[in-house]
Amino acid sequence: MSPILGIDLGTTNSLVGVVDSGFPILLADVDGNRLTPSVVHNAVDGTVTIGVKALRQRVLDPQRTVFSVKRLIGRRASEGEWQPPYDLATIGKTPVDVSADILRHLKCIAERALETEVTRAVITVPAYFNDAQRNATKRAGELAGLTVERILSEPTAAALAYGLNKLEDQKKIAVYDLGGGTFDISILEMSDGVFQVLATAGDTQLGGDDIDRAFADWILERSGDTPVLNSNASSASLRTGVSALLSEAAETAKKKLSTLDEVTIEIPFLNSQKHLSIRATRTDLEKLALPLIERTRRHCLRALTDANLKPTQLDEVILVGGSTRMPLVRRIVGEIFGKEPNTSQNPDEAVAMGAVIQAGILSGALRNVVLLDVTPLSLGIETFGGLMNIIIPRNTTIPCKAGEMFTNAVTNQREMLIRVLQGERELAKDNWELGRIAVPFLPGPKGSARVGVQFSLDANGILQVLARDTATNTDMVLEIQSSAVDVDDAKVEQMISESVDYAFDDMNERIWTEARLKGEELINAVEEALTQCGSLLNEDELLKIKSCAAQVREVMNHAPHDARKLKSANQSLDDATQSLAVLLVERAMEAALERKLN
Ligand code: AMP
Repeated sequence: MSPILGIDLGTTNSLVGVVDSGFPILLADVDGNRLTPSVVHNAVDGTVTIGVKALRQRVLDPQRTVFSVKRLIGRRASEGEWQPPYDLATIGKTPVDVSADILRHLKCIAERALETEVTRAVITVPAYFNDAQRNATKRAGELAGLTVERILSEPTAAALAYGLNKLEDQKKIAVYDLGGGTFDISILEMSDGVFQVLATAGDTQLGGDDIDRAFADWILERSGDTPVLNSNASSASLRTGVSALLSEAAETAKKKLSTLDEVTIEIPFLNSQKHLSIRATRTDLEKLALPLIERTRRHCLRALTDANLKPTQLDEVILVGGSTRMPLVRRIVGEIFGKEPNTSQNPDEAVAMGAVIQAGILSGALRNVVLLDVTPLSLGIETFGGLMNIIIPRNTTIPCKAGEMFTNAVTNQREMLIRVLQGERELAKDNWELGRIAVPFLPGPKGSARVGVQFSLDANGILQVLARDTATNTDMVLEIQSSAVDVDDAKVEQMISESVDYAFDDMNERIWTEARLKGEELINAVEEALTQCGSLLNEDELLKIKSCAAQVREVMNHAPHDARKLKSANQSLDDATQSLAVLLVERAMEAALERKLN
């Protein structure tokens, strides 16, 4: 039985472990450290250093020292709010390459500790990572020489760590995970060793780094009337170095303020003239951190709503992620959920422990535990009229498969374009396109084609779309590859909140679009019928139909859109054409009879 590593590839720190003799353990490097800073220094001569040694270079060589690369993974450099002080293009690496460097380093730590080669791993990612980000993480693993057996959501991993010694319990728990760069909240139900994720929410661009930045700005403001950055820090490199010094000082002070009420921040040589020394209190820090931490509240409430639970129905709220060491975070979490949060887990290690447990389950080293995860965002395709048709709703347990049959909306259409979408909005244009496939089929009347579309989401949350023309039995398969993804990942969290903010408008727009499609269909049908047998109707009937059709057209072209009015105009037109419909049917029957007689 070859071991499978459990890896927490964190924004700030990474960890690796394995199940040994039935126990999940984390592995230490030569210096005895289990936490490896997720930092990679790339010297001009090509030397790559990782971890603590690389962290030291952050001040000396900031432009070639890559940190928080997880914030960039799977996303194009131009996207998102966060712009790092280093330029990966100059270094000649992608976020996937840098993540692979870190993973290779962790693999070495494990191989040294276990004295054997290891080629398989489970890697954790934030629950909110989309397909592109999961795929990118998987690719990084492969580049590092690891077969990635499973991509696991971090809060789920933390719940596994919490629940391993309580397998017989039946509990509903929330995992509140605030790390360096991301925030995740998950609600899970555990019962008899089965872990089911009921709901997840979060923000991929919120964490302790943001608190450090706000604190660093505050320190800079307090540093006196000559702004430190203006004086000698003229070159970009020096400026970045100064800001790295400041962030480091801010982070150190922030951490101290988790246990102390007051600290002195000293930066001896911030620039050649200035020695910085500032007092800061926990209250100062909390004032700056409050708005950031408050941003987690609505995600918690949303996850509760999605899970259909009241805070009182939760048995535990587990805290993980380094930033939950802040007393302010603990206070706010207590307030949101109305109970003292559970701090039994080591905030730095719980996720890695969970990854190790999952790896143990997969390798067979641990038994009696099953894990069911969910998909964080809905997946669907665009249908006629630009509407989103959901195929797999969000919070569906994965792995899963779902499909639907589609047909041609226009006569003699030769192909159907399937746009695969991810998101919560009613209109296709407001969701993200993950990819597209064109399915060719034989031309025929409207509604004659039959194209089955099936979505399969595997246990890693990676999507495969299969489209089948049932007439010819030809299949087209679309693997959602990150290169084909054009998603602004910084907006992942926005998607959910916008779907709520715009729910009313979106729903109106959907009802309007449906009414418009119906109106267009009716008008086309009426025009066709009138040319065929309009002459058989009496004057009154004809006038009535024409005025009803004119009314539909008018409402359809009227701004602002009034869906109710259009629906009622459609209905009147439908009612007015009853005798026309009867005539049409009679016509068709006569024609059929004639054909038979001839
Ligand atoms: P993680 O991504 O879970 O490793 O969390 C890293 C984040 O936790 C960083 O932003 C750290 O500054 C923060 N952190 C670690 N220890 C503390 C502490 N004692 N108090 C406040 N924040 C902390």
